[in-house]
Amino acid sequence: MSLPKKHLFEMPEGVIYLDGNSLGPLPKGVAEKVQQAVTDEWGQALIRGWNGCGWMDQPARVGDMVGRFIGAPAGSVVMGDTLSIKVFQALSAALAMRPDRRVILSDTGNFPTDLYMAEGLIRLKDAGYELRKVAPEDVADAVTSDVAVVMLTEVDYRTGRKHDMAAITKKAQAAGAVMIWDLAHSAGALEVDVTEAGCEFAVGCTYKYLNGGPGAPAFIYVRPDLTEQAEPALSGWLGHSAPFAFDVTYTPAPSIERMRVGTPPVLQMTALEEALRLWEDVEMADIRAASLALSEQFIAEVEDRCPALSLISPREGARRGSQVSFAFEHGYAAMQALIDRGVIGDFRAPDVMRFGFTPLYLDASDVTAAVEILSDVLDNRLWDDPTYTAAKKVT
Ligand SMILES: *Cc1c(COP(=O)(O)O)cnc(C)c1O
Repeated sequence: MSLPKKHLFEMPEGVIYLDGNSLGPLPKGVAEKVQQAVTDEWGQALIRGWNGCGWMDQPARVGDMVGRFIGAPAGSVVMGDTLSIKVFQALSAALAMRPDRRVILSDTGNFPTDLYMAEGLIRLKDAGYELRKVAPEDVADAVTSDVAVVMLTEVDYRTGRKHDMAAITKKAQAAGAVMIWDLAHSAGALEVDVTEAGCEFAVGCTYKYLNGGPGAPAFIYVRPDLTEQAEPALSGWLGHSAPFAFDVTYTPAPSIERMRVGTPPVLQMTALEEALRLWEDVEMADIRAASLALSEQFIAEVEDRCPALSLISPREGARRGSQVSFAFEHGYAAMQALIDRGVIGDFRAPDVMRFGFTPLYLDASDVTAAVEILSDVLDNRLWDDPTYTAAKKVT
């Protein structure tokens, strides 16, 4: 395999895309595939498409494709809904496995929606549950015997700091807790092995490093020996053991398909399925090595040329995901100025400039060119302009 595979992506002229950690770009062939699904499948097959075009099997079929990125065996991953929903499902099923405990342990670096979904579930259950949030570095020591579930995101969306998945899982399980990993910033970015880690649940999205497109379906993994113990909180008809029996009582499917809820987003999943073909000859070890090299180059060049920025990501590659973040007081405006000049990263409050490194379509010359433009923005205060300081709805 050779990296990068830049020629396999539609990339606008003059753009250096450092935001694949937030929304992956469009792989070539996806637009045609979706067009074909619209005209030939939806247009011609009509309702026959559920069987004839494989629509009904797609969530499990694509789940197996995604499983490969996280070390999950066939039949243990299913696609659907959004990641927020998958967090809710995993958390609810995990809590039911520890009926005598009342604490969900997470960290303050987790992505807010994961924490919000936990809060909502706690309110709904109304049974004395507590969401305990500790600093990321304190998680391992905070797994006490009252913790029912440890719910963490492996890579911190803001800083790129990476948890030790295997070590924390071991700690959680030794204390009798169930482990849920959110792999939103891991799948397609670095090597993940849920089987080796032994965690009970994992969830993640596919529009970041897996390039499935805006709104691409999320995934959920349940450890195979626990499938039939995982109670589906969202007991929709497509998670039923026999949806087309139209029984008036819910019986969960014996397989991972119990984590399906309702009608799958066929067109969106078709985009994802086609996008995943890019990876057929790609080894995650190669992706990880290239991503670390690009990140290290970026850190070195920024520190050399942009002294106003301070690194907030871990310096040591092994403790970092595939993104690098710098703090800068005028980070929002500086990022707007940068984007205006074709270097697309993003900003996270209060002062974080975030850059994602995705070796499928980035190489060393892109990094050098991006730093060149960044140093121009800073040296010449190009950010200090009212058009860049006004906040937009999506940062
Ligand atoms: C991106 C991300 C999400 C987004 O959730 P959606 O429901 O897909 O909008 C959730 N959690 C984490 C950790 C993320 O990085």
